[in-house]
Amino acid sequence: MAALVQQYLDLIRSEHAGVAEGALASYIPELTTVDPDGFGVSLSSSDGFVYESGDAALEFTIQSISKPFTYALALDQIGQRAVDAKIGVEPSGEAFNEISVDPATKTPKNPMINAGAIAAVSLVPGATPDEKFALIREFYSAFAGRQLEIDPQVYASEKRTGSRNRAIAYMLASFGVLDGDPDDVLDVYFRQCSFNVTTTDLARMAATLARGGINPMTGRRVTDAAVVRRTLSVMVTCGMYDAAGDWVSAVGMPAKSGVGGGIVAVLPGQVGIGVYSPLLDAKGNSVRGVRLCRSLSEQLGLHFLTVSRDSRATLRAVYQPHDNIRVYETHGDLLFCGAEQVVRTVDRGCDDFRVGILDVSRVDDIDDAARGLLSGMSAALRDRGKAGLIVDPDRVVIPDGSEFENIRYATIEQAVDAAQTFIREQFSDR
Ligand code: GLN
Repeated sequence: MAALVQQYLDLIRSEHAGVAEGALASYIPELTTVDPDGFGVSLSSSDGFVYESGDAALEFTIQSISKPFTYALALDQIGQRAVDAKIGVEPSGEAFNEISVDPATKTPKNPMINAGAIAAVSLVPGATPDEKFALIREFYSAFAGRQLEIDPQVYASEKRTGSRNRAIAYMLASFGVLDGDPDDVLDVYFRQCSFNVTTTDLARMAATLARGGINPMTGRRVTDAAVVRRTLSVMVTCGMYDAAGDWVSAVGMPAKSGVGGGIVAVLPGQVGIGVYSPLLDAKGNSVRGVRLCRSLSEQLGLHFLTVSRDSRATLRAVYQPHDNIRVYETHGDLLFCGAEQVVRTVDRGCDDFRVGILDVSRVDDIDDAARGLLSGMSAALRDRGKAGLIVDPDRVVIPDGSEFENIRYATIEQAVDAAQTFIREQFSDR
């Protein structure tokens, strides 16, 4: 069966293999010598299975694709409030290497431009550049599921030629955004840009973001879901330089590109994608990479704003096992909107039963909002002279020791028995 997906990927890649537009990055000599024809794509499913097509084993430097990961590390280590004090989250509409800060806050506009990325490096804990870098490398490697190494030539070249980044770092220091020696911070930034990766590494890193911080290959939790949510948010608004609007409209996935020719793209909960082709457009994004992602999104339906699922699917069945007893059977993932629909359906049918039983034994996952709504349902029914019971064997709604313990049953049979007793006691006229 995997061959079917493989054929799809090969076909989509081959559609763009002939495109020869764009130019190699030329700000350092190392990037001008790469093979312009290199073209690879990898796709990781959310359970860690990876499909590869073309030059998926070819190494290239990560460059700006490092930015979301160091930003995530800063969030992970010092918390969002401390990071927000130094780096904004607004798209800049400027080139990635613009020497600028937000005019009001005097902090970099976002972490996906160089100014914000350099500030993020300075927020990573560590007494020395080596300590900071060790943390960064460990973090990226946990995302990729293998130990990443830097390309020493690219690093040396970045360091030798990085006047503009130096200008940015010194500007940030003058505004009090950078702690420590700007050259030390830059040294770490140049090293992080020089990591060698393959498209498969990028797909795995993306899949770890797609899974809310758990690497699906290693099973390791690399960071928490709140860090991932914030990181993906800035990838949506700022990840593709000043082409963010085009990208979100046409591709619709949080993403980040780098001048090395790579692009990482994430469909939350579903897939991670890594693409490589070193010929860049005027904005610094890989020409074939962007086109390939566009086709993948269109042909595989990966746009994150595709409205696919009707939330009515939450209610699996509604039935009446006995007079005056109605069962509402739910399934899947229950979030606020699904729970709201359940509550409203119960409310609407309330005149037709005396005991409502909510069966959540087929619910996979639930969030706090849905849990709050559903556990409040029995009190609302009680106020109307009815009873609300809940079948919750796995305690997805009613945790151990909850005040609602008395309405919880492990099986539908037990709940129906209890409902019949309730009706006999409360309505002995029948
Ligand atoms: N090393 C590059 C720089 O800092 C990375 C830029 C990029 O990939 N956009 O200028």
